[in-house]
Amino acid sequence: MNQKIASYALGCKVNQYESEAIAELFAEKGYDVVSIEDQADVYIINTCTVTNFGDKKSRQLIRKVKRQNPDAIVAVVGCYAQTAPEEISAVEGVNLVIGTKDKSQVVKMVEDYRKEMGVQNFVTDIMHERVFEPLEIKRLQNRTRAYLKIQDGCSQFCSYCIIPYARGPIRSRAPQDVIAEVKRLAENGFREVVLTGIHVASYGKDRKDITLTEIIQQVHAVEGIERIRFSSIEPNVVTEEFAQAMAALPKVCDHFHLSLQSGCDKTLEQMRRRYDTAQYRRAVALLRKYLPDAALTTDIIVGFPGESEEDYQQSKAFAEEIGFSKIHVFPYSPKKGTPAAERKDQLPNAVKQQRSHDLILASERMTEAFLQAHVGKQKEVLFERMVSPDVYEGHTTNYMKVHAKSTEDLTNQCKMVHMLKVEGETAFGEIVKS
Ligand code: SF4
Repeated sequence: MNQKIASYALGCKVNQYESEAIAELFAEKGYDVVSIEDQADVYIINTCTVTNFGDKKSRQLIRKVKRQNPDAIVAVVGCYAQTAPEEISAVEGVNLVIGTKDKSQVVKMVEDYRKEMGVQNFVTDIMHERVFEPLEIKRLQNRTRAYLKIQDGCSQFCSYCIIPYARGPIRSRAPQDVIAEVKRLAENGFREVVLTGIHVASYGKDRKDITLTEIIQQVHAVEGIERIRFSSIEPNVVTEEFAQAMAALPKVCDHFHLSLQSGCDKTLEQMRRRYDTAQYRRAVALLRKYLPDAALTTDIIVGFPGESEEDYQQSKAFAEEIGFSKIHVFPYSPKKGTPAAERKDQLPNAVKQQRSHDLILASERMTEAFLQAHVGKQKEVLFERMVSPDVYEGHTTNYMKVHAKSTEDLTNQCKMVHMLKVEGETAFGEIVKS
């Protein structure tokens, strides 16, 4: 009987991509891939350390899988393992600690493992890593949207973030490897690719042969791919040339996740973000000049150390001025090892919760206004799945979630939809007969 492997990611899309790729490496060696809930012989846990809560969840999962099968080999990879290998080694049940480098070697490491040798720690220095580690997904299930990792690492060192220490400096995937994977995705029926990375905005900055705009243009040229998104960009990427180039590429979706974090200049400076609200406003104006219907989503942290009520109100007012289609709100959580966590002017949890609640309500109002503005209009929807009998769910290019009725299977099909009404964060429409 084949050995069983479960590979699971906590945290971001990059982790999810990598965990899927790791599962494939094991499958190629004859392992059966099972769910994290199942009894497996090998568990690979890809950890997240963005918040202390991420650390806790990672530790809980390690203990849980070891309880499922006390004889299993548990290998811990990812950001938490990279930044705190001793802490991970001390968690009962851990056999291997691998970090964010050498994930492509994980099968060999597991197979070389000898229980009698105790916990093995393979974590090495990531801060001088300069090469993008090849790790790719070949086993393609029939889905609509594929995530594709094109970049690793971050060299920004925002004052609240541990990621540059966990992932090391920026490394961009070679353009020929990106394109080879996009072609495979297209050949296997995927219609939409989402270019992801730890800091996609810096794609190409470590290479002489490619820029972010150029890799998007090359992906655009791949036949069969109909939609392109990227996970997140920053205002300093959005120049007139960039906005113009995106508008000239019809497959690039008119939806941009433009990272904000705060709408107050004082807080942005203390966060060590490398833009201010004036620059952000200019970026938004450029995107809207060339892509007038573009949806903008963002992340905002509330309750950063020293954020006064006035600072918070400024931040919220700026967000309302921009008019996002959705804000992902994060109450600030101090992360050990970062400068912001050392500050003495931390805010009480109650204040963070209250601001978080208030901004989520503001975000919901913006989402509703954005969706309502589309009622009566027609938009193209790429359908992904059936959510109830004869009701299909999909997304427009500007990332509205849409439900529509059909007796025909709409999975993985693009259809024009006439928008009828909005309920919560979902628009309901009817398919336009062609
Ligand atoms: S840009 Fe800032 S917040 Fe984003 S990963 Fe880099 S350091 Fe962290």
